[in-house]
Amino acid sequence: MTSKSKISRRDLLRGATVTGAALATGLAASDEALAKSARPIKWDHEVDVVVVGAGASGFPAAIVARETGASVILVEAENHIGGHAILSAGNVPLGGGTSLQKKYGIEDSADLIFQDLTDWSVTEANGATDYRYNDREIIRAFADNSVATFEWLTAHGVVWVDKMPDTLGGGGVGNSAPREHHAAIRHWPLAQSGKPVDAALQTTAIEAYGGNGLMRSLEAAAQKAGVQILLEYKMKAIHRLNGRVVGIAVETKGRTLNIHARKAVFLGTGGSTGNVNFRRMFDPRLTEEYCGLAGMPWSDQDASGELAAMAVGASLWGLANEVGEFGWTITKPEQLGCQYGYRTLQWLPGSEVFDRARAAGLRIVNWQDAITVNMLGQRFYDETGSQFRGNGYKSIDPYTPGSYLNAKNAKYNPANWLNAAMAGIGDGHNGGGAIWAIFDAEAVKRERWIPTPPNVDIANGFFFQADSIGELAKKIEMKYQRVPMLPENLEATVARYNSFVDTGTDEDFGKPKPLYKIATPPFYAAWATPVMHDTRAGLRINARCQVVDMEGQVIPGLYCGGESAGGFSQHGLARALCQGYIAGTWAAQESAAG
Ligand SMILES: Cc1cc2nc3c(=O)[nH]c(=O)nc-3n(C[C@H](O)[C@H](O)[C@H](O)COP(=O)(O)OP(=O)(O)OC[C@H]3O[C@@H](n4cnc5c(N)ncnc54)[C@H](O)[C@@H]3O)c2cc1C
Repeated sequence: MTSKSKISRRDLLRGATVTGAALATGLAASDEALAKSARPIKWDHEVDVVVVGAGASGFPAAIVARETGASVILVEAENHIGGHAILSAGNVPLGGGTSLQKKYGIEDSADLIFQDLTDWSVTEANGATDYRYNDREIIRAFADNSVATFEWLTAHGVVWVDKMPDTLGGGGVGNSAPREHHAAIRHWPLAQSGKPVDAALQTTAIEAYGGNGLMRSLEAAAQKAGVQILLEYKMKAIHRLNGRVVGIAVETKGRTLNIHARKAVFLGTGGSTGNVNFRRMFDPRLTEEYCGLAGMPWSDQDASGELAAMAVGASLWGLANEVGEFGWTITKPEQLGCQYGYRTLQWLPGSEVFDRARAAGLRIVNWQDAITVNMLGQRFYDETGSQFRGNGYKSIDPYTPGSYLNAKNAKYNPANWLNAAMAGIGDGHNGGGAIWAIFDAEAVKRERWIPTPPNVDIANGFFFQADSIGELAKKIEMKYQRVPMLPENLEATVARYNSFVDTGTDEDFGKPKPLYKIATPPFYAAWATPVMHDTRAGLRINARCQVVDMEGQVIPGLYCGGESAGGFSQHGLARALCQGYIAGTWAAQESAAG
């Protein structure tokens, strides 16, 4: 800043009339330039609370704020609601003594959750620590509001499968009590297929599509409560005036509009793992080829909430959690030959986003049926090797809270297919590049695959077929295959693997008893590159879910929850639902700005 400057950037944030949009685009400009750009904002909508994102955190925030007496607009970037939550399996690890836990005689309490989710000693078999870096204030708020969130969801139409809470489908949910409650799928058509599941499964199935019942129930509750839902409204910036957040700028169908939030703005934008530059701040390896984000193409995680908040001064938080090797943060694909290969999510042609997903993928049941190779055509790990794991009920047994014995007794197992896949090929680039599953016609029969569109994406280079291994290698060309795969490399790899089948021993990577040769044409190469999933670091919030700045001060009028908020390492829905519930309560009680 020059000595002539009258207004510092901090003054601008606190005092002058300036928009987040101006700040977002003007951070490199001089403060004088920013001051000149200041102008009154023309508001296109006025409301008490603006909620950004119609997902797991956004809906509770919107409904609670509305029912606490605030008028509420919920803006959603996509032309449909639900975010990742509607695609989820609906396994919801709330606890602390919910009515369902009590019904089945499970003892749990807020203090037990708090103790579990802050236990430094819980250690995965690969040495990763699930809870060590959690923010105590945020976990306390979650623990204290967990039961209330569960009962609130139930009162707002969410139906739970009537069975004892268990450990299925979770990760990072605490060791001391079973806490996975399963939302029933219900009767609405699924986002994944456009069709409802069989009537017999609608209230009984678990580990499937429970997010459908969860989110459609909340959508109905929001409509009943009088929340105004605006689809295809993408938040582009936050307006901060006289130190306080007063609204947002949105883009809708080519127009930019401003929405005045008299009391507060809540960001429930779902995280940042879809933004390559943002995610590489945490892990430089995560380059463009990790393009199969779980939950896309239904909704992105483009860090737009984080970036807009940072442009008005917000801090990030709990960054160690983002690179913790636990749970489903990055996953081994289970659908092969398509861009979006997340384990439980298969896009079918009836889905309204199938034109963007383009292929369903071949769901692999047994990794004995394929080998995985890097861009050079070389194997790099035992294909049956698993990915990271997350802590749940009794995954450490015996368990003594906070005891070093928990860490000491963990049986070391690196489970590193993912890290080996992302290691790269020694060419100086970050990122492991394309990973291919290689198999033959016999594997296709064993797995009962139909290796043609719409099951595989040939047009965009996610699937190849040839009559010889050498021809297959030559055909592999697509934007993330940085180097040509030499035919002799892939031929040598397959020949060596076939020799391991003869001897029954994988001398290179210890795959347990390799069973099947890759010998019968046609041969196939199917996209099998790791898939990005959870965001575990985001904006700094406090116990009320108010966003905090780089000086540790609350940014008045700005709230955040779910995957865009930091400080809480846990997979998925529970923290998002609970933080939405907490934030909605406090946001509605803010005094109205002018
Ligand atoms: C296939 C799958 C299965 C899963 N299964 C489970 C499970 O069983 N249990 C579990 O606990 N978790 C599960 N999860 C994770 C869980 O769904 C997410 O952690 C949770 O939905 C996060 O909630 P959120 O509110 O932060 O984001 P989301 O629910 O993703 O909602 C974010 C919303 O914000 C919108 N948005 C983003 N940016 C903007 C913007 N600038 N303007 C307007 N709108 C915007 C997005 O389009 C989206 O609709 C699963 C996820 C996936 C993808």
